Amino acid sequence: MDLPVDEWKSYVFQKWSLLPKSIQDTISTADALRDIFLHSSSLLQPEDEIFLNNLSRGYFVGKDPNAPPFYREEGNKKFQKKDYVGATVLYSKGISHSRPHTVDISLCYANRSAALFYLDQYEMCLKDITRAQMHGYPERLQPKVMLRKTECLVTLGRLQEAGQTIRDLESNFAAKPTLAAAQFQILQRNLCRLKRKVQEKGNLTETYTATLTKTFEDMDLREENEQISSASSSVSLCIDPLKGRYLIATKDILPGELLVKEDAFVSVLNPGEMPPGLHHGLENKWDTRVTNGDLYCHRCLKHTLATVPCDGCSYAKYCSNECMQQAWDLYHQIECSLGGLLLTLGIFCHIALRSTLLARFEDASKVIRKLCSEISNKDMCSPESENLVQILNYDLGEEGERHGKTVKIPVPGCDINGKYENNYNAVFNLLAHTENHSPEYKFLCALSVSALCRQLEAADSKKPETAAPPALYSELNIWGVAMLKHMLQLQCNAQAITTIQETALSGSKENNVSNSRQIRLATGIFPVVSLLNHSCSPNTSVSFISTVATIRASQQIGKGQEILHCYGPHYSRMGVADRQQKLRSQYFFDCGCPACQKEKHRAVARPRWEAFCCNQCGELLQGGDVLSCGSMSCTESVSRDHLTSQLQDLQQQVGIAQELLRSGKLEQAVQLLLECRHDAESFLSAEHSMVGEIEDALAQTYAALGDWQKSATHLQKSLRVVEVRHGPSSVEVGHELFKLAQLFFNGFAIPEALNTVERAEKVLMVHYGPCNDEIQELQKMKSCLLNSPPIPLGPSL
Ligand SMILES: [Zn+2]
Ligand SMILES: [Zn+2]
Ligand SMILES: [Zn+2]
Ligand SMILES: [Zn+2]
Repeated sequence: MDLPVDEWKSYVFQKWSLLPKSIQDTISTADALRDIFLHSSSLLQPEDEIFLNNLSRGYFVGKDPNAPPFYREEGNKKFQKKDYVGATVLYSKGISHSRPHTVDISLCYANRSAALFYLDQYEMCLKDITRAQMHGYPERLQPKVMLRKTECLVTLGRLQEAGQTIRDLESNFAAKPTLAAAQFQILQRNLCRLKRKVQEKGNLTETYTATLTKTFEDMDLREENEQISSASSSVSLCIDPLKGRYLIATKDILPGELLVKEDAFVSVLNPGEMPPGLHHGLENKWDTRVTNGDLYCHRCLKHTLATVPCDGCSYAKYCSNECMQQAWDLYHQIECSLGGLLLTLGIFCHIALRSTLLARFEDASKVIRKLCSEISNKDMCSPESENLVQILNYDLGEEGERHGKTVKIPVPGCDINGKYENNYNAVFNLLAHTENHSPEYKFLCALSVSALCRQLEAADSKKPETAAPPALYSELNIWGVAMLKHMLQLQCNAQAITTIQETALSGSKENNVSNSRQIRLATGIFPVVSLLNHSCSPNTSVSFISTVATIRASQQIGKGQEILHCYGPHYSRMGVADRQQKLRSQYFFDCGCPACQKEKHRAVARPRWEAFCCNQCGELLQGGDVLSCGSMSCTESVSRDHLTSQLQDLQQQVGIAQELLRSGKLEQAVQLLLECRHDAESFLSAEHSMVGEIEDALAQTYAALGDWQKSATHLQKSLRVVEVRHGPSSVEVGHELFKLAQLFFNGFAIPEALNTVERAEKVLMVHYGPCNDEIQELQKMKSCLLNSPPIPLGPSL
């Protein structure tokens, strides 16, 4: 996803392997990015471009006028089956393929408004009705949508508007002889009903305008840092020849304190599973599968069921017209015609392009001049550590007495006043690690960027009135070098933007505990977040709302301690050898964090979530290839290979059970899971992660069967395993507690529910702060529990 598609990757690697040794050497030993780029670029042949363009064509991102009727038909099928979410997404796909101001687009919007209506999304429904009308919704169908509009307005308590819509309907249609008698009657009946509804509502004293607005008050940094934008005054920027730039605490920090709140400088949505239809002309050219690209705004990453597509392509979709317009002005007018190519070349290449497009808006001439001078200057591209050598041991911008004179030392990425900001200058100064990447990788990046530059040039010559500043185009090579630098930076500096996606299981809606999982929504660059160093047991927690990253202390951090976050390899998810390997190959450093030191030097026993136990006495087994019982009185011993294969068999059975659960075969799932658990007890420790997985699946199955008590019992066992593995105040425990709270809530176990809600809230608050969806849900549950009579209530109030 981040890198180009495999076909292009292997094509380029093949090309590299066939290059004469002398040329390989030239590229391998060049330490200036400019040389790498120019050499590689000169090797890009027309046949390479043809190959790449053929791959790009596999992604159909244009508008296909035959697609909207197909998607509308498919959407109607879902609608009939009362799968309104499914229907909404298919109508959206139809909309994305329609040209503006066509009957197709207006019909799709109108149908989507109906699906949204049944999902109780009245505001969105109203917007879609307006859109349908704007794009020329047929006159004869108008009464239908206007009745729907009135229903929405009544439900939302906007009674005056509702009354007006009824009057419009009456004057425009009711009297029209064009309506068939039967239609006329239906309309009349509906009008009467709605008028009554308006009256009834009008009599109620209650107001319906109180919509839940999210409180963002606690979301702001208590005191913004003067030295680093987007950071709190509790941290300070330091620099050191070994560590590079890093942040330390300037005072004691409590768990949950917000330390960084930064909007991405650039982000690109991860399209999710979107296999190219490489074989043209296949019938399933119109994909009905749902991807992230269908559910999240391509600019602000908000979740939405009612996307608005770009007028020029079927790929880019947004949450609103505002986002569409902003994306167009900032970057999409250049990217729109390159959709297939960008999907082929991968997210890193896309981010590289978008970063340079965004740079245009920051005093473009200055940035470009800077690019020209820095890139033509070889020093800039030599190993970045040289920059650091000059400034070793100096604090940021500190004016100190050295050799009898005052010196002011700049930190890379800061402006002349020593301020570090979320801007292109900071992005440009992130380390590219040019000397650490393999020559093949550099060649792949350089060739991909060259191909992109050629396309930009071609697109530019087609339309002379381009919006890009001429300076960028006239110096296409400089632009290319800048993009290459970004591509190389991304391996170490790309930040995955994640979100929690709730997947409901089959079965009735109320009967389920939602199963949440973290998904990677987008990739972005956050210059301030990038200042943090890695630890396998970090003292912070990162989360995202839209494109904004927040970093909170996950534990107490003493004054002077370094602020650390985890780049991915966390000690509770990966063994020390795998972590070290991952960090070395991707980030080019050897981790010396406390967790790594402890595990490396003391050869600690395998963690309990991986431990086997004796099937004679239940004690933990110990040893290497042959394990023996830890109990003095027991002589049992067994080979690790045997246990490993036993575990694999079990894993397979659990997989089958989970599949049964997904397809709604609940009794069979319970049966198999109970057998699995029995099997697990014979050789796995009670805290083994596999045991946790089985308990979690059992909890879900019983929940789906409506047996709250059994479900809760199993979920509590799963919770214990998660606690042992991730720690009692970890975000993972927070999610388990959230599930458990939902269970007790749905089962009307009020004291248990209240207790669990509070525990979940406490844990999740530290990691996410008050604006998180789960926190909000918990608070709704709590207020409901505190002043509710014991009557059945659904989880989504
Ligand atoms: Zn948006
Ligand atoms: Zn477009
Ligand atoms: Zn480590
Ligand atoms: Zn034993």
